[in-house]
Amino acid sequence: MRTSIVAGNWKMNGNLKANAELIAKILKEASRYDGIEVLVCPPAVYTAQVSDLLEGSVVAVGAQNASAFGKGAYTGEVSLSMLAEFGVRHVILGHSERRALFAESDEQVAQKSQAVCDAGMVPIVCVGETLEEREAGKTLEVVSRQLKTVLESIPVEALAEVVVAYEPVWAIGTGKTATPEQAQEVHAALRALVAEVDADAASRMRILYGGSVNAENASQLFAKPDIDGGLVGGASLKANEFIAICGAAAGAKVTG
Ligand code: PEP
Repeated sequence: MRTSIVAGNWKMNGNLKANAELIAKILKEASRYDGIEVLVCPPAVYTAQVSDLLEGSVVAVGAQNASAFGKGAYTGEVSLSMLAEFGVRHVILGHSERRALFAESDEQVAQKSQAVCDAGMVPIVCVGETLEEREAGKTLEVVSRQLKTVLESIPVEALAEVVVAYEPVWAIGTGKTATPEQAQEVHAALRALVAEVDADAASRMRILYGGSVNAENASQLFAKPDIDGGLVGGASLKANEFIAICGAAAGAKVTG
């Protein structure tokens, strides 16, 4: 049995006041998150604030990105050890916005994933196809290529702890969600790919779905056998939506 994860990706949103209000609301309902892992990933500059607000709670703070380098002349970058000082364990890597807007390559995502594993932290590796790629029938080819590059660069012993997020680019922030069947097909293919390296790790690995997850569609998505929770963007900024999504993940655990 895998423990589901719901991770909120705040992207470049928030401010001190709004963050405090959102966290207060999320923590009020923490009893609904029994049996799952919940994390929120604020912009790096708010890591300390959010970490303080979450201290002693069941909700963890994560990061949206990190440098593959340890320290030194890398202007504008934030290292893993800096994030770890504020309690960060999970780091989102290779989000489609970073790939598309900041030209992050499969190789850079792999390099960062390796650094995160080496630091004893947990990468949340995002993969996903564009609409054009899906319509060309290339979905599995694209996500397999993205994941394979990562699988080749991390130690097998670290594999089971790695989290993968399937995020079809056409579903991110668009209000269009993959159907549970479309998502399940890709999740099963990703798990099979991991099984080629290590079957045990594949059965333990959490594979999240991301792309316009909301309070309405979460339960059906999380009911699928290979969907182990969600990476949530827009809805993670609305307390009620995020709480309901966490509740859906916890409920799917009970009934699944
Ligand atoms: C995301 O940013 O990872 C995401 C899935 O966004 P949204 O939920 O807004 O589609």
